[in-house]
Amino acid sequence: MQYQAILNQIENELTKKQAKGKVASYIPELAKISPNKFAMHLHCINSGHYNIGNHQERFSIQSISKVFALTLAMSITGDELFQRVDVEPSGDPFNSLVQLEYENGIPRNPFINAGALVISDILISKLYNPKKEFLAFIHKITDNNSIEINSKVYESEKQYSYRNAALLNLMKSFGNIENKIEDVLDFYIYQCAIEMSCKELSTAFMIYANRGKKLANGDDVLSPQKVKRINAIMQTCGFYDEAGEFSFRVGLPGKSGVGGGIAAIHPEQYAVTVWSPPLNPKGNSELGMYALERLTSLTGLSIF
Ligand code: GLU
Repeated sequence: MQYQAILNQIENELTKKQAKGKVASYIPELAKISPNKFAMHLHCINSGHYNIGNHQERFSIQSISKVFALTLAMSITGDELFQRVDVEPSGDPFNSLVQLEYENGIPRNPFINAGALVISDILISKLYNPKKEFLAFIHKITDNNSIEINSKVYESEKQYSYRNAALLNLMKSFGNIENKIEDVLDFYIYQCAIEMSCKELSTAFMIYANRGKKLANGDDVLSPQKVKRINAIMQTCGFYDEAGEFSFRVGLPGKSGVGGGIAAIHPEQYAVTVWSPPLNPKGNSELGMYALERLTSLTGLSIF
């Protein structure tokens, strides 16, 4: 497959497209990012790396971190985790409170904020030093110890986290949060503030394309059965209330974040990451979705 030629064609098509979406501004620090940033990195299991744009520039991974948090939690706990968070699409915005009220504090899935807050609570209960161990996990799957949080983004979100605090309070009232609300909120915001480049995210997501093994050295990170489950949740819940549209247009499991990143995988083929900050009304990167749609169309390969 002529992957580099396909990426070049996508880049060429994008020069003629103007994003109509807006860069996320509810976390003030994110609003400072230029809407013109664009990068894409494709890491193929059999044929290596292809890229366009500034694929080594780091950006705020935001909700893409929810996949790593779930992975870490699933690597240290069993099925009891899924008694506290379900695996159904929400059909509601990522920070919605309404379902939680009538579903007794059990979030629909681990990739909406409520679900990720429960996963954070589980990790705090299980880990000795959650922040350090979470970052160490990302260092391990990327073989890159320089990945860090952006402390300005972290501080910025801390000042505007009323809604996530409301989700936590509601879940705590139903008995689904064990630790102190401020501790869970702090750890969750820390995860969202991690910065990675498209290249680094593609390396990290390779474990989901490669049946739970690191490509670099074949080390097992997660069992194939657990990877199957995470990929299934990415497919059905990875794009807020637009997971159906993403499956329809792109046809790959993946996860987006309000920093404008999307990481996706084709099982046993590749991991791919795109970054373009303007978001569509559902909160997904507008040009990122377009680029991935063109990738699966031009290659004629998706999981469907
Ligand atoms: N830190 C963001 C929040 O909780 C993450 C949202 C996202 O990327 O979906 O609002």
